[in-house]
Amino acid sequence: MIASDQVFADIAEQKETLWINDKYLPFSMVDAVCQLVVSDEDIEDTEKRLHRFAPYIRKCFPETEADGGLIESPLAEISSMKEALEKTYDAEIPGRFLLKMDSHLPIAGSVKARGGIYEVLKHAEDLALEAGMITEDDNYERFADEDMKEFFGRYTVQVGSTGNLGLSIGIMSAFLGFKVKVHMSADARQWKKDMLRSKGVEVIEYDDDYSKAVMEGRRQSDLDPSSYFVDDEYSVPLFLGYAVAAGRFKAQLEEKGITVDEDHPLIVYIPCGVGGAPGGVCYGLKRLFGDNVHVFFVEPTLFPSVLLGMASDRYNEVNVSDFGLTGMSAADGLACASPSGFVVRIDRNLVSGDFTVKDAILFDYMRMLKGTENIFIEPSSCAAFTGPVNINKYEAGREYLAKHGLDEKKLAASAQICWATGGRLVPDEIWDKYMNTYM
Ligand SMILES: *Cc1c(COP(=O)(O)O)cnc(C)c1O
Repeated sequence: MIASDQVFADIAEQKETLWINDKYLPFSMVDAVCQLVVSDEDIEDTEKRLHRFAPYIRKCFPETEADGGLIESPLAEISSMKEALEKTYDAEIPGRFLLKMDSHLPIAGSVKARGGIYEVLKHAEDLALEAGMITEDDNYERFADEDMKEFFGRYTVQVGSTGNLGLSIGIMSAFLGFKVKVHMSADARQWKKDMLRSKGVEVIEYDDDYSKAVMEGRRQSDLDPSSYFVDDEYSVPLFLGYAVAAGRFKAQLEEKGITVDEDHPLIVYIPCGVGGAPGGVCYGLKRLFGDNVHVFFVEPTLFPSVLLGMASDRYNEVNVSDFGLTGMSAADGLACASPSGFVVRIDRNLVSGDFTVKDAILFDYMRMLKGTENIFIEPSSCAAFTGPVNINKYEAGREYLAKHGLDEKKLAASAQICWATGGRLVPDEIWDKYMNTYM
């Protein structure tokens, strides 16, 4: 593969690259098949469940008051950042330039507040309904009652994580009353482990990569009938929690007077780890905007697991070490050696392509965003900026734009979205460290 394909060669040499999806298809051709797996009704059902829980979330997490108990994030125009990127990297970024700030989602401070919290809520609802503790028509503020917490205390929730998924599952599960075990990979940051322990979560540390932490967590959970495992590599509820982002995002675009149609394309760049979060968001966006949205993932040069899973058609069987990639990434939220088997399949014909980015530049983007917009997002999140800066610097990128009719006029009328995925919970002393990291 390395000998016959430049993208694989770039990856093996740890060079930044852009892979354009060879199996990208018009949405109408994949719509029906996709719906067999995750339908519009499933997404609607997810949205309804989140609305049922809104009174509870609002009561327990006053930061969600403004969104009525829904866990949502702002969409911000970042024109100064756009100017700085253009100037510094000799780039041309046409159209409007916006940051979707899932980095600042309530409760978990990362995009995992969508999928992770949703899956925990769904599990809690399933248990409570089955035990006759609630009905769907009750006011879900009831979940805050002591007897409910005692009830959930008989059950365990477990998850494998590089950090942020553990934070979202850990915080929400512990809050509901569950016993929680988070299996953390070697890349996980100390402050994330400390924060979880301070909330009564049991953190189990591994001297190994993310896939191993997941495997061990899954194994331990399977041995215990009262334990539920949130499976980042296969979970449909998790995926659905991410997919509902699209509908709410659409409303935010409308508020900003942004139209999405054939003449006004939407181009979205999302940092990618195991694939769940970007895969779910991409799926939701494609269902709403079809061929008028173009979604690119971005992965670290050391962990292009989703790119490799798709480009090789080996799906979850691929591991970045097959291409000689070993080592740690400063983009801890994206450090996944093998992709989600579920996401690489369901998004195989939907995602436009996948960029890789070197760790060092993430800190430069981070400082630039702080300096121009006074917004802090964590290094993993900053991966998104490599997309708009570089898309037309790659021949493959220019070909993609041409092939899909994205000419100068359409690009000028486009909206480009960098999907920020984490940062709000990062402690001040860690920010100071990040701000002074030069690689
Ligand atoms: C988890 C995470 C991602 C990517 O999500 P995956 O589901 O692992 O692909 C991106 N950025 C941050 C900050 C994350 O924590």
